[in-house]
Amino acid sequence: MERRFLLDLSLEELEAELQGMGEPRFRARQVWQWVWRHLCFDVSAMTNLPQRLREDLANRYALQLLRTLAWERDEEGTEKVLLGLPDGASVEAVLIPEEDRRTVCISAQVGCPVGCVFCATGAMGFVRNLTAGEIAAQVLHFALALREKGERVSHVVVMGMGEPLLNYEATLRALLNLNDPRGFGLGARRITISTVGVVPGILRLAQEGRQFNLAVSLHAPEEGLRRRLVPLAERWPLAQVLRAADAYALATGRRITYEYVLLAGVNDGLVHARALAKLLRGRLAHVNLIPFNPAPGLPFERPSEGQVELFRRELLAHGVDVTVRRSRGLRISAACGQLRSRHLTQV
Ligand code: SAH
Ligand code: SF4
Repeated sequence: MERRFLLDLSLEELEAELQGMGEPRFRARQVWQWVWRHLCFDVSAMTNLPQRLREDLANRYALQLLRTLAWERDEEGTEKVLLGLPDGASVEAVLIPEEDRRTVCISAQVGCPVGCVFCATGAMGFVRNLTAGEIAAQVLHFALALREKGERVSHVVVMGMGEPLLNYEATLRALLNLNDPRGFGLGARRITISTVGVVPGILRLAQEGRQFNLAVSLHAPEEGLRRRLVPLAERWPLAQVLRAADAYALATGRRITYEYVLLAGVNDGLVHARALAKLLRGRLAHVNLIPFNPAPGLPFERPSEGQVELFRRELLAHGVDVTVRRSRGLRISAACGQLRSRHLTQV
């Protein structure tokens, strides 16, 4: 019998499965706590469960995290791992420690079908969606490592490989499982979903009644330029993306983050900054500028620090709240998709 990956299940599903095995309802919650609260994947340590049930669990479920295939760490403590999936595919996840924050950046897909022209993940094409368990396991991987130091994962951002809203169900289930106070208990306000602008996904997320943060990758203040950078913009034009983001802000009261990758000579001019400010004026918005992370084969350059600063000030001068994402772990190839690419060319 093929064993199910236990992390793919919601608590309600686990309850139904265990009840089907003749177990009382409370057992599922005990198992759930071992896994999601105590990060324990070894049935022999689950001492409050009857021996027979422990054996059944081990036979029925794959009770484990993902294998670490490669690992890098830079001098600031940013850690990046390549995790192996049961079918031989692999994904990247990153831990970014900053003062009192421990942020884990996770992937939602292997590769990405969107193909943004500045993105290493986009360049590798689409392999497959991750399951809910494979998404959550990336967080638990770092949670276990941090526990050794008496620390916890404080924030999760779905900003790794792939487009989360094109793998909506698995992503949402993973985040709800991580959020569930009966287990891992990470607050929804500490979780951010980054989307390239999948309008139906944004609207659906707005209906979930959750407080997740939404980050929308804009990258250009006008349609023509955006289409050159983000192929999916053909399908969901800027105006629709902004309307969907407004609906999300209205439904949740959360401020939207607009991500903007700065590409030298392409979208980093002051005219772009002014147009962006005009677009966002009056919106519950915040801009996160991301200076381009170079990767082999990507035909762009990173703007100078001076240019980034000019762009930032121009937005500020026009009343737009803005931060610049510090480029962490450039030396450990923290731009998405790069560790995987390198690993694949080595083996
Ligand atoms: N697919 C989602 C989430 C993953 S990408 C999205 O596009 O939003 C997360 C962020 O990294 C996006 O804002 C994306 O534009 C940015 N990004 C991708 N490649 C980059 C690069 N080479 N340099 C800087 N940022 C990059
Ligand atoms: Fe996919 Fe996001 Fe990369 Fe675009 S930037 S190709 S949507 S992962």
